[in-house]
Amino acid sequence: MLPVILKLKLATTAAIGLAASASPAPVPAEALAMVVVERAASPIEVKLFDENLRVSATVAIRRDGRMDDETAAEVKHLFRCRQTNRERPIARKTLAMLADIAEKYDGKTIEFVSAYRVQRGESPTSPHRDARALDFRIRGVQLQALRDYLWRKYSEVGIGWYPSEQFIHMDTRPTLHDTAWTFLSGVNHYHPYWGEVARRPLSEKTPLPRPRAGV
Ligand SMILES: [Zn+2]
Repeated sequence: MLPVILKLKLATTAAIGLAASASPAPVPAEALAMVVVERAASPIEVKLFDENLRVSATVAIRRDGRMDDETAAEVKHLFRCRQTNRERPIARKTLAMLADIAEKYDGKTIEFVSAYRVQRGESPTSPHRDARALDFRIRGVQLQALRDYLWRKYSEVGIGWYPSEQFIHMDTRPTLHDTAWTFLSGVNHYHPYWGEVARRPLSEKTPLPRPRAGV
């Protein structure tokens, strides 16, 4: 499976390189469209590390959170409840966010702490119980950067910052309000200041439009 993905990835990278090259000749619209279509369709390579069981896995997830059946089974198993060994597919939007993170931090491993949790004592309203949540970190990436990126980009989500435990909680909650919190000394502190700052319009942060990198 992997060689095919890598081939796809290489082809996509080459095509994007072609489109983005500094050549003065305009790139034909069809070529650009092809790049866009291919880019949207190609899966993202997601490197995972199970922090509890010390197991690594690399899976291919599409940007919309879909996977082939074999990968779906593997992902369901990786993210199973650790107390009960029960498995349940993780919400597609949560997986789409995971693929997004993997693409943004290309090549880095996402170390996950917890996903599906259905053991006795887990709150009935927990997004972990509903297989919509993932707790994770990326070595070498500041938790604050992950937290702010997700909170700024997505809506209908819960984003929790666990500075002492060193992980970020993310969940999707289609019927609930966005919720941001900081977990400190065993307590969730809602409406944290970082949440306000991360979603503040750019115009309020800088008086002049910032130059866009790479354009
Ligand atoms: Zn969590």
